[in-house]
Amino acid sequence: MNVTSVVQAVYLLAAVLFILSLAGLSKQETARRGVLLGMGGMVLALAATVGLALERSERPVAVTAALIVLVLVVGAAVGTWRARTVEMTQMPELIALLHSFVGLAAVLVGYGSFLTDAAAGATDTVHLVEVFVGVLVGAVTFTGSVVAFLKLSARIRSAPLTLPGRNWLNLGMVLVSVLLGWWFARAATGGLLPLLLMTVVALALGWHLVAAIGGGDMPVVVSMLNSYSGWAAAAAGFMLGNDLLIITGALVGSSGAILSYLMCKAMNRSFVSVILGGFGTGDATAGGDPSAVGPQGEHRETTAPAVAALLTAARSVVIVPGYGMAVAKAQYPVADLAARLGDRGVRVRFGIHPVAGRLPGHMNVLLAEARVPYDVVEGMDEINGDLPATDVVLVIGANDTVNPAAQDDPSSPIAGMPVLEVWKAADVVVFKRSMATGYAGVQNPLFFRENTQMLFGDAKDQVEAILREL
Ligand code: NDP
Repeated sequence: MNVTSVVQAVYLLAAVLFILSLAGLSKQETARRGVLLGMGGMVLALAATVGLALERSERPVAVTAALIVLVLVVGAAVGTWRARTVEMTQMPELIALLHSFVGLAAVLVGYGSFLTDAAAGATDTVHLVEVFVGVLVGAVTFTGSVVAFLKLSARIRSAPLTLPGRNWLNLGMVLVSVLLGWWFARAATGGLLPLLLMTVVALALGWHLVAAIGGGDMPVVVSMLNSYSGWAAAAAGFMLGNDLLIITGALVGSSGAILSYLMCKAMNRSFVSVILGGFGTGDATAGGDPSAVGPQGEHRETTAPAVAALLTAARSVVIVPGYGMAVAKAQYPVADLAARLGDRGVRVRFGIHPVAGRLPGHMNVLLAEARVPYDVVEGMDEINGDLPATDVVLVIGANDTVNPAAQDDPSSPIAGMPVLEVWKAADVVVFKRSMATGYAGVQNPLFFRENTQMLFGDAKDQVEAILREL
């Protein structure tokens, strides 16, 4: 048995572990096991790849080993530092940035592979196509993810860039890339110029594709780039002849595509219309402009003791968390509040909108972190039917996901997006710091309804104040 066949066997085992990991991640109860299986698979994959690199090393093995250890130490140090210091609210932008690395890696692998082949005079057309497609997908993923990172971290405006004839522009760039691909395949080892030109076009395409997508559609963009990064990794796998990278890339690519479909469904948007962009003309990031357009009116303010009294008299309470709960890190006192009310015989449940927060599953992660039992955490479709019979809804830092304008106002940028119908409950208390808008930058008529009261201030401070009253 030689090293290559051992490596192939380990790759197979790692691929099975990755599939089991994805299966585990699909349910909250088994998510921890899923993560551990994925980590196990990754350790095996890395060990086998290092073994293979040492076996095939053309320079002295010690030099190759030292180089590998060096990059592993640098990568692990940076990764550990970022993972330990990142705030939960910065996770989406970190993930967008990580996707950009996968895209950049595919571009670099493509150039490396092409230049090596060109120097050796190898002209395998299939491999040339792999290189071309790999660099194309990688370049689109790279700039697309950088724009997503800049938008999510509020470094650039989240409003869509609506250039005249933007769909024609995209189509034109795709056609030019196809023509350059034809030139590249014919030029074989002399094809550096078409490859460079296509890279510039693909970088511009990735940038424009995501720049044209507005605030409200960003959840789909995040999952779409996740999918792209998977295809970029799979393309790198083809270029390097690495089966495990192809399998892993395809798993990420297809799971990202399924997630994009689910996010589109959650927002009642067609995937094509999201890709074509121009939706969500609001220019707000986390905490928008209070003077944003939209229905205004009189709102009623309340206090922590008054909310405590309301909760004491309630028999059923639904807590609807949103991005503001993540900002305030209020999940721990919120979990305490739910437990305390539960002890008093109040039926408490959580209602989770699929795009609440800034990351698919954001709220579920926060609540799991605060050890809220899974059986009281319900999805939008499950909880909406029960809201008319609910005494009190506590909206904790959520805004767009509870906006009735999505149903009532066809001209609203979020028109058609399914929302949590919290206004159907007897009383609604909204925890936020001001009258500012949410991510999509639209005013929320919920705040002016008769059964709504606003509890202004940091969500964590206010929930703690209510706990003290109780
Ligand atoms: P929103 O972003 O609509 O609103 C959050 C609200 O939280 C703000 O209005 C803000 O108001 C309030 N807030 C912020 N900080 C605090 C604090 N410390 N204490 C109390 N309140 C606070 O949140 P939702 O979760 O309802 O909606 C998510 C939005 O993000 C949707 O538009 C979705 O499309 C978008 N999005 C979702 C992604 C995903 O994958 N889930 C990815 C990218 C975007 P104030 O400033 O007045 O306090």
